[in-house]
Amino acid sequence: MPNFKENIEKIRLSIVKNRENSQIPNKIKIIAVSKTFGTDSVLEAIQSGFFCFGENKVQECKKKFSSIIGVHKEIDLHMIGPLQTNKVKDALKIFNTIQTLDREKLCLEINKKLNPNSKTKDFFILVNIGNEKQKSGINTEQSNDFIKWCINDLGINVVGLMCIPPAEISPIKYFKKLKTIAEENKLKYLSMGMSGDYLDAIICGATHIRLGESLFGKRQNYEK
Ligand SMILES: *Cc1c(COP(=O)(O)O)cnc(C)c1O
Repeated sequence: MPNFKENIEKIRLSIVKNRENSQIPNKIKIIAVSKTFGTDSVLEAIQSGFFCFGENKVQECKKKFSSIIGVHKEIDLHMIGPLQTNKVKDALKIFNTIQTLDREKLCLEINKKLNPNSKTKDFFILVNIGNEKQKSGINTEQSNDFIKWCINDLGINVVGLMCIPPAEISPIKYFKKLKTIAEENKLKYLSMGMSGDYLDAIICGATHIRLGESLFGKRQNYEK
């Protein structure tokens, strides 16, 4: 039985230790990625005083969290998976933050559906930091123009960038690159780092880390 409380304490301790060595001053927000895990896992996290979760699919999130949100108003939900335009309306009702703006069509739909009653207030742009064919995200060469367009032309409240670096190689140069793009665009937040590489991500300036298996235990196969 995975023990959320123990796991989150381990993670926090590792961050503090890592930070002593690197003297990184930034404040780190931990997002517990609960995709594939059930309501029981989420409730266990809540019982240990933890309220910030990430989900990859709108329907899965609604199913899992709708009733929980009714009871725990402090729940902070982040959309971290690719978002289909036909799910935008629902996504804006349940997520506090959407981290995966990655194409014009999606941003136009968000711009159309967003209103003062929308729950979503903050947005991140997903950058395909390794320019990999199979991954979603805006390519690095287009990212500056895309960010400016979202902010200046659409008026979307873009507060940061997210990335998933290429697998199997050191993520550090990709994390640094994301940080550079954020600085060029005066964006405050960087969502980077998962269970396997969050300490590297923090050294490179991550403000949001997304942890699944290190908090909830091993995940079954998951269809993206
Ligand atoms: C699943 C997922 C995570 C969490 O991955 P772990 O390796 O379980 O920590 C983080 N970010 C995204 C976008 C994911 O899809």
